[in-house]
Amino acid sequence: MYQEILNEIYNEVNSLDCLGKQADYIPELAKISSDKFAINLTELSGNNYGVGDITDKFSLQSIAKVFAFTLAYRLKGSAVFQHVGVEPSGDPFNSLIQLEQEQGMPRNPLINAGALAICDVLIDELADPEHDLFDFIKKIARNDAVTYNSKVYRSEKNTGFRNRALVNLMKSFGRINNDTEAVLDLYFKLCSVEMTAPELSKTFLVYANHGKIPETQEQILTNSQTKRLNAIMQTCGFYDEAGEFTFRVGLPGKSGVGGGIAAIHPGKYAVAVWSPMLNPKGNSVKGMKALELLTTKLGWSIF
Ligand code: GLU
Repeated sequence: MYQEILNEIYNEVNSLDCLGKQADYIPELAKISSDKFAINLTELSGNNYGVGDITDKFSLQSIAKVFAFTLAYRLKGSAVFQHVGVEPSGDPFNSLIQLEQEQGMPRNPLINAGALAICDVLIDELADPEHDLFDFIKKIARNDAVTYNSKVYRSEKNTGFRNRALVNLMKSFGRINNDTEAVLDLYFKLCSVEMTAPELSKTFLVYANHGKIPETQEQILTNSQTKRLNAIMQTCGFYDEAGEFTFRVGLPGKSGVGGGIAAIHPGKYAVAVWSPMLNPKGNSVKGMKALELLTTKLGWSIF
């Protein structure tokens, strides 16, 4: 059933006139072909269904913030919320204004300021932060080949003026312990992680399976931590369009400016979509439409 539905969605969405544009503030992302489009769904059983450009790797960008937060939450438990809040920002993902007004405390771990604060926590907690973070991502992905794209990483490092401003503003409020360039370096590597759509939906199964890796039932986060993280994705995962995504799709998830979106239906499946053409809020136009059609055609969402 899933494969026919995905094929139908792929054709329907491709026939729409989708406007949008690549994230050109990261020059390397502006080079990705605008007509790339992939949809992939993986059931908890491991059954996989995909259509479109499912063998292409794409830049996860903010989707990877979920993995960094998962590791920090696993290491620090509730103490992680001394570093980031759990409220939607209602502001663009890289906004400085709210951070200034709120004394450098990021609203949540999925906006840039929050993910930078989480990278700072990881540098505090891990013996070899880059190696250990990537080892963790490989573990939840069940894929030892996961890595970051060095061109995208360098592109971000050379042009990440706003992220530099965010981390320095937080440092001025005493909220960053480590060298700001070390924090940015880990953050840019995290954002430059790339995966195919099937690899991404497989990785997100842990959030659909109450924090356990499906094949081994190894507990990565507790049931309650997973509930909380999924709630953060639902309320904060789509920049200042989290309400719109919830309204149209009705699943927790996270988008990135590479044009990817990963979402989950707890107890059932994880789904990843990718199309690099973004709407003005930074979410993939085709990706949002595809997921809206998915929950509409299936007749199930979490609501
Ligand atoms: N690396 C991107 C940035 O920091 C991530 C943005 C995103 O995907 O939301 O600007």
